[in-house]
Amino acid sequence: SDVLERVNPSEIRKLFDLAQGIEGIISLGIGEPDFDTPEHIKEYAKEALDKGLTHYSPNAGISELREAVAEKLKRDNGIDADPKTQIMITVGANQALLMGFATFLKDGDEVLVPSPMFVSYAPAVILAGGKPVEVPTYEENEFRLNVDELERYVTSKTRALILNSPNNPTGSVLTKKDLEEIADFAVEHDLIILSDEVYEYFVYDGVRNHSIASLDGMFERTITINGFSKTFAMTGWRLGFVAAPEWIIEKMVRFQMYNATCPVTFVQYAAAKALRDERSWRAVEEMRREYDRRRQMVWKRLNEMGLPTVKPKGAFYIFPRIKDAGLTSKEFSELMIKEAKVVVVPGSAFGKAGEGYIRISYATAYEKLEEAMDRMEKVLKEKGL
Ligand code: PMP
Repeated sequence: SDVLERVNPSEIRKLFDLAQGIEGIISLGIGEPDFDTPEHIKEYAKEALDKGLTHYSPNAGISELREAVAEKLKRDNGIDADPKTQIMITVGANQALLMGFATFLKDGDEVLVPSPMFVSYAPAVILAGGKPVEVPTYEENEFRLNVDELERYVTSKTRALILNSPNNPTGSVLTKKDLEEIADFAVEHDLIILSDEVYEYFVYDGVRNHSIASLDGMFERTITINGFSKTFAMTGWRLGFVAAPEWIIEKMVRFQMYNATCPVTFVQYAAAKALRDERSWRAVEEMRREYDRRRQMVWKRLNEMGLPTVKPKGAFYIFPRIKDAGLTSKEFSELMIKEAKVVVVPGSAFGKAGEGYIRISYATAYEKLEEAMDRMEKVLKEKGL
């Protein structure tokens, strides 16, 4: 259909194709945890299969999981959502984006999207009939979204705003004060907020994630999107969840009914148990520590090799500035693939404000990251960049 002509295949794919077949290549392009799903969660899934939990489940997801999600939201996010009417389970956070936008966007409605941004945001807005409007974030402000900038892009057609903190691709984390200012802005312009918090547990330097839906009066205009992919290293299980006002959840469930029908049933049972198991949270903390160790090393090495880099506070990405090398982010990334045998992602893949930067994922073993840093440094020296 016409609408699909307006969403292009991700730039990242093309670079990954270029890297295919190059021997000894190290990929820092990966957008998922390199850890295996914790053993006990896999056991829960096997138990669910053995119990014969292999059929359809409710469109909104099983009640056990919605209740476990409600408990988690209350405990960790300060969000009070009714598991019966204000929470649903989705096929990953990605699917929730499109379903979320489809509940309220009308043709021509504009959505403010902080740039650089996760690659699915603009396509999700377009597929739901809206128009994404990029709002730049800047290195000088640690890539944190700022209300002054939002004010420059808001129009009478603006209906919504996306937040993604901790952020992919920059690793920025919004402070509580940032969120309070953004909340005031949303109320003033009567906007719905879609808050994508999939990296919430991966925060460093004593920083913590704050959920905008927990601020006074904000639940009623916020769609909080999250999932199991990053938290429990479960990307392939395809499981996410949403908390939102009842009128939004009701429409999203209707979308789900005619789309995926329901998320995979035995996977939901495993996730419900995982959320209530201390071992899962210990595993999260172990992963967080290891990401942090890598983050410190990569940040130091990048700055030492002459790529000025903001120290990211969250997620598992780092976003060095490469524009001083006199190359576009795509040229720089191609050079790294060909000469250093290291895959990095050009910042331009994440929107206009990403040009001049590259994204490095540190969801890769420490030793491999060190080797990649050595190789990149060598190429930059050899080329005099
Ligand atoms: N949001 C962001 C910011 C992401 O980086 C990703 C995955 N890379 C997703 C959503 C999608 O997550 P899921 O696997 O739950 O669909």
